Amino acid sequence: MRQTQTFIPTLREVPADADVKSHQMLLRAGFIRQNTSGVYSFLPLGKRVLQKVEEVIREEMQAAGSVEVSLPALQQAELWQETGRWYSYGPELMRLKDRHDREFALGATHEEVITSLLRDEIKSYKKLPLNLYQIQSKFRDEKRPRFGLLRGREFLMKDAYSFHATKESLDETYEKMRQAYTNIFTRLGLNFRAVIADSGAIGGKDNHEFMVLSDIGEDTIAYSDSSQYAANIEMAEVDAAYERSDEALKPLRKADTPDQKTIREVAGHLGVEPERCIKTLVFKTGDGFVLVLARGDHDINEIKVKHVTGAKNAELADAEEVRQLLSAGIGSVGPVKLPQGLKVYADHAVRYIVNGVAGANEDGRHYINVNPDRDFSVDEYADLRFIREGDPSPDGNGTIVFAKGIEVGHVFKLGTTYSEPMDGTFLNDQGRAEPYIMGCYGIGVSRVMAAVAEQFQDDGGFLWPPAIAPYTVHLVPVNMKDEAQRELAEELYKLLKDYRYEVLLDDRPERAGVKFADADLLGIPVRVTIGKRAPEGILEVKNRRTGETFECQREELQDRIQQLLSR
Ligand code: ATP
Ligand code: MG
Repeated sequence: MRQTQTFIPTLREVPADADVKSHQMLLRAGFIRQNTSGVYSFLPLGKRVLQKVEEVIREEMQAAGSVEVSLPALQQAELWQETGRWYSYGPELMRLKDRHDREFALGATHEEVITSLLRDEIKSYKKLPLNLYQIQSKFRDEKRPRFGLLRGREFLMKDAYSFHATKESLDETYEKMRQAYTNIFTRLGLNFRAVIADSGAIGGKDNHEFMVLSDIGEDTIAYSDSSQYAANIEMAEVDAAYERSDEALKPLRKADTPDQKTIREVAGHLGVEPERCIKTLVFKTGDGFVLVLARGDHDINEIKVKHVTGAKNAELADAEEVRQLLSAGIGSVGPVKLPQGLKVYADHAVRYIVNGVAGANEDGRHYINVNPDRDFSVDEYADLRFIREGDPSPDGNGTIVFAKGIEVGHVFKLGTTYSEPMDGTFLNDQGRAEPYIMGCYGIGVSRVMAAVAEQFQDDGGFLWPPAIAPYTVHLVPVNMKDEAQRELAEELYKLLKDYRYEVLLDDRPERAGVKFADADLLGIPVRVTIGKRAPEGILEVKNRRTGETFECQREELQDRIQQLLSR
C-alpha cells in the first residue's frame, strides 16, 4: 500500500482526553477515532490489526471444532423476556422500538438468540454436541466507558456457544476451548494467565477468565510465583499453615477501650498486635443473622461467606441491626456470650489465637485473654478470608503474588440456565426430552487489540508483534524528489510484494524527520530506509522492536528481512 493512497492521520500531540497508553497511541498513530463515548471507528491500520487478531481467533476456534455463524444484532424483546433478562439485565442493555412499537434490544450477548435458533432445529442427542461461534459487534451501555477500546459501548466480541447431551461432553469441549484460548493469547504474544473466576453455586473449576497482566487492569489476580496457579482474588482459596504459641491460657477479663473502634485502634490501645485480635462481623442472610470471625490482620471475603453459609445473599448488617442483636456498636462486638441460636463461622486462623482480644458486646469494652473453644464456640471453621501476598499457593507450589489484570476472555459452563427457561430440549437415547447442557466462550476482540497495544509500545510508538502488525515492512525513501531513491523504492516495493510481504511505502513528499517519526509511531516491525546510498544499492534496515539497524545490499534484503522476522 502506498501511504499517499491510504488514510493514516497521525497526531503530534498526545490527545488530552485519552488516559491510558494504548488509547493515546492508537489515536496518535491514526489507528482509531472516537465517534462518541465508547464508540469508535477503525481506520485502515486499525482495521488491519483487528482483522489479524480475528484471523488468529478463527484459526484456533476452527481447529478446536467450533463453526462460524453470524447471528443478528437486532433481537426481539420476547426472547429476552423468556429468560427474564429483559428485566434483570438493567440499563446496560440497549433497547429500541420499531415502527410498530415492538421492543428490541441490540445484542449485548447471544445466549437467547442461539438457544431459540437451535431449539427449533436440534431435537436429537445424535446431533449433539455442537459448538458455534461468531465475531460481531456487541452493544452494552456501560456505566463508565473508558480506556478507549478496553471498555466500549459498541465493541467487537468473539462469542461461542456449545450444546451438549451430557456433562462429560461439555467438560470435553470446555477443555478444548480453554486450550484454544491459551493458543490464541500465546500467539498474540500477550503476558496472560487463565484465572479461576467466581461462578457462584456452580463451583470454581467451571469458570475461567483470561487476564492480561497490566497495571491498568481492573481486576486483581493472585498467582503463584512458581506454578500455573492463578485465581481472581475473590476466588483464591487460602491454604495457610498456622502455628499456635505455647503460651499458657490466662483468665478472661474485660478492659476499657473507650472510643477505640477499629482493630488497629483497639490493638494499639491495648498494646497487642492485630494478629491477636478477633475481628467480628455480623452478616445478614436470607436465613437470619450469622457471626463471622477472622484474625484482626485478615480481611473477610463475602463470596466465601456466601458459599459456606449456603446463602444466596449475605451482606453486612448495618449499625442499627448489630445493636439490636448484640446491644453494642459495630466496633465492640465479639463472640463471647452470644444470644442463643446465633450461628458462628470462623476463619481457620482464629482457631490458633491464644489469649486474644475481642469485643465484649458492650460499648467501649473488650475482652482480653479470649481463647477459642474455652470462651466461645464456633459452629464451623472454614476458609473465609482473602488471600494475601506471601501466602502459600493453594496448589502447594510457591508463594502468592498479586497483579492487576485486563479480562480478555472468559470460558463458562452455563449448564441448563438458558435451555431450561427457553424449552431448548432434545430427545436423549431413551427417547426422553432433556434440556441442552450449554457452555459459552467469549473473547473481547477489540479489547484484545487494546491490550496488545498497551503491552507493545515505547515512547516513540508501537512495537507490533509481526503476527498482527498492520504491515510487515515499511519502505521509507528519504527524499521523494531524488530519482535514484524513488526508483529503488519502487523496485523494492514490487519485489517484496512479489515475495508476499505486506508492504507499506511511504511515498509522501514529507521531510525525513516527519517520515521517521511516523514510522516509529506506526510500529511496523521492519523499516527499510532508502537514502543517500541508493545509487550503490545500499539500504538501511531497522528492527523496530530492538532498535537494531544495519546496512545491506538490495540483493540481500529479502534474506535479511526473513532472518529478522524469524528471530
Ligand atoms: P467486564 O467484567 O470487563 O465488564 P464481562 O464479564 O461483562 O466483562 P463477558 O460478558 O464475559 O464480559 O464478555 C466476554 C468478553 O468481552 C470479556 O472477557 C471482555 O474481553 C469483552 N468485553 C466485555 N465488555 C466489554 C466492553 N465494554 N468493551 C470491550 N470488551 C468487552
Ligand atoms: Mg461487563
